Amino acid sequence: MTAKNAFVVAGLSAGAGTKVTGFIPVAGTTVQMPTTVVNGVEPGPTVLVTGGVHGGEYPGIQAAITLAGELDPARVRGQVIVVHVVSPLAFHARQQYVVPQDGKNLNRQFPGSKLGTVTERIAHTIMTEVASKATAWVDLHGGDIHEALVPFTIVSQGAAPAVRDAAWRMAEVYGIPYVVASDSVAGGTYGAAATAGIPCILTEAGQCGQLDDANTQIHLRGLRNVLKLLGVLPGQPEPVAPVQKLEHFPWVRAGQAGCWYPAVKVGEQVAAGAPVGEIRDYFGKVLEAYTAPAAGVVMFVVTSLAINGDDPLVAVGAE
Ligand SMILES: [Zn+2]
Repeated sequence: MTAKNAFVVAGLSAGAGTKVTGFIPVAGTTVQMPTTVVNGVEPGPTVLVTGGVHGGEYPGIQAAITLAGELDPARVRGQVIVVHVVSPLAFHARQQYVVPQDGKNLNRQFPGSKLGTVTERIAHTIMTEVASKATAWVDLHGGDIHEALVPFTIVSQGAAPAVRDAAWRMAEVYGIPYVVASDSVAGGTYGAAATAGIPCILTEAGQCGQLDDANTQIHLRGLRNVLKLLGVLPGQPEPVAPVQKLEHFPWVRAGQAGCWYPAVKVGEQVAAGAPVGEIRDYFGKVLEAYTAPAAGVVMFVVTSLAINGDDPLVAVGAE
């Protein structure tokens, strides 16, 4: 029996004015996603927060854990669903980008598939059982294990105008100055959310597989501000710096495997055609040299010496 006005997400039932924790199973797999459901007393929006879509992006995961712990249902209007670690398989394998069981990047698989591989099923469960309840979504990332980056927020441009505008308002209060308007990768959370009509931002703060408090706090301030903007938490969003909109987000990818030597740092301004790094063989011979595809800010740089064909190397954010 469920309590009066219970809010139920994939079997986790929170009565009005309560908070529950538990695990959301992914059907046909061993995956159990640690989740907190907060149900306020007053009606309001339903905000989804996801951490750990990528297993090594720790500040986002920690911000999800901290937010879930601090939310007081007595002060919440509407509901908040926090999935602390969407991909526990990648998290425990300490694996960047992909889920080791099927080699797939979860943030390229949305909206997923009910009868697909484990990664496709995780995406399907998030979309059909969790995001389907949400009226807004913040997907927390933070530079994977071999990825240096400057914080940035991604907003999908593919959404209907009202959905896109709502997502931009969320991005503006999140407090990360660089906002990338992008649909450059298919199968991401924000693109699937846009298609489903859910305003969504993907926020990146953190890097290189490190858990650090400064980046966790960037996420936490952003989450609290979004919840205030939407009226889920009382009070006004804390003032933040104005955002700089970057319309283009070209990535440079490895043409072959080898040793990677970047020539730029994150946050650096580069001219179009400027050298950004080279791949050499194991004997030091240059195999390929890479240049900036546009003038702009270096948003991320892959930091591992080892590189594989088609791996991302560098991305530039351009106006
Ligand atoms: Zn990520």
